[in-house]
Amino acid sequence: MPPVVAPVIEPEKPKAKVKPIDRSQGVLRPVIVEELVGPDHKVRAIWELTGQLDLSGYYGKIQSQEGKAGSSAWNPQLLLSVWLYAYSEQVTSARYLSTLMEYEPGLMWLAGLGVVNYWTLNAFRSSHQEELSKLLAELLGVLSHEGLITLECVAHDGTKIQAQAGSDTFRRGKTLEKEILKAQELVVELERQEASGGSGNARRDAAQRRAARERNERMKLAAEELEKVRAAKKSEQERAEARVSLTEPESRNMKHGNNAIEPSYNVQISVDAEQKIIVGFCLTQSSSDSGCLQEAMEQVKETVGRYPEQSVADGGFTNQASIHDMNQSGIDFYGSLAEPEMRQAASMKAAGIDPAFGPSAFQVLTESKSLQCPAGKILEYVRQSKKGDTTYWQYQAESKDCGGCEYQKQCCPRPEKGRLVSIRMEENEEVAAFREKMKTEAAQQIYKKRGPVAEFPNAWIKEKLGIRKFRLRGMAKATTEALWGVLTYDVQQWIRLSWRPKVMAAVVGNGATQLA
Ligand code: SF4
Repeated sequence: MPPVVAPVIEPEKPKAKVKPIDRSQGVLRPVIVEELVGPDHKVRAIWELTGQLDLSGYYGKIQSQEGKAGSSAWNPQLLLSVWLYAYSEQVTSARYLSTLMEYEPGLMWLAGLGVVNYWTLNAFRSSHQEELSKLLAELLGVLSHEGLITLECVAHDGTKIQAQAGSDTFRRGKTLEKEILKAQELVVELERQEASGGSGNARRDAAQRRAARERNERMKLAAEELEKVRAAKKSEQERAEARVSLTEPESRNMKHGNNAIEPSYNVQISVDAEQKIIVGFCLTQSSSDSGCLQEAMEQVKETVGRYPEQSVADGGFTNQASIHDMNQSGIDFYGSLAEPEMRQAASMKAAGIDPAFGPSAFQVLTESKSLQCPAGKILEYVRQSKKGDTTYWQYQAESKDCGGCEYQKQCCPRPEKGRLVSIRMEENEEVAAFREKMKTEAAQQIYKKRGPVAEFPNAWIKEKLGIRKFRLRGMAKATTEALWGVLTYDVQQWIRLSWRPKVMAAVVGNGATQLA
């Protein structure tokens, strides 16, 4: 019989000892406001900078006065600093910002633990456009004084930012007329109800009347904007098809980088190449950049006090008008001008014409002011046309000649009209000189600055500051919102390039002194 072996009993392992969590307790802790943020925290920089700016325009609008009854207003320097900090942290909602003020250390330090309600924050943000523009000019003065702006070279570009409206809010004239009528009737009806005593809830009635009046005003604005849109159309049919947004009448449908067409504004931004600081900005309703360069340079002059020495912009801005405008303003302009041959090749390809039957295949008969085609037929001069910056003389073949021609398929895919040939005439002198300048290596090197300089702030404002869609409605308020983005961007550049290096040098210096 095998021996009986007693089982080995392992000693029980003691349970791990962890700290208990007591959520039933209440604790009062002292908060030392000054220690909420470190010495190089950006709220300190923002407060220091806003303290240097002239805020008299803001203070002048405050109705509360010392020594008189009534509560004190919030300090405009605080509201300005709070919004600059909020935008730099991608916070664009006034409600969320107000909540953040209760626990976010940077905001707690700024406001000394105070909390501003969202209504006050919203009102401060959406008004004061004039003061905000002056602040940008002042800020640029500070940056210029510190050598961060030279205006030797300014790169310019536009970016589309979605308006506070959906694509489905666009209506044609007839629908708009009905909406205007409905809005007017509602205002009259609510005023009639008010005159007869109202519903008994005065506050609600007043809110309804205010909303009806605002809608009525918006419909009137929509009618005005529709006329502007119609005036820009070429044909009667296009004018009949013209539409405008009922919720954001001043916005226009614009194509974005992802090919989506959305109600938007075109934000034009000029950037000093020295340190990529924004030195000019404006908002336009035009989806095309072609006529925006001169206005942008005027903005730079207004904000900084003078035109830049050089300006650089892409092909969207480069045309005869902008070349002429820049010459007139004494600005050395660098851009991208399409070669007429390339343009002509593209239009021939679109029309299905064989490259072998291009304009060079036709012989100019100077004496008779006509052309002779490869089949020996005569094309008569019909008109002069302008495409971009170049003048062309146009000659038309007879449809019966082209219809029965052996080269018809290659030369005139639509014989019912007869082949139309455009012969390029002499180019405008300024444009020809510009084209020659852009062929030089030096000009190409300057033009290469454009992408990295001009596109960087656009991307920053959209991606880092989160302004991809305006929160505010109306062109004036959208301009103010974009201005906040531009100011925040420039303030952050100032912190990075000027304020933080000085603070860090002081901190290191203090450390070295203590060690010594
Ligand atoms: S298609 Fe017309 S223009 Fe062209 S070669 Fe023939 S006749 Fe001449």
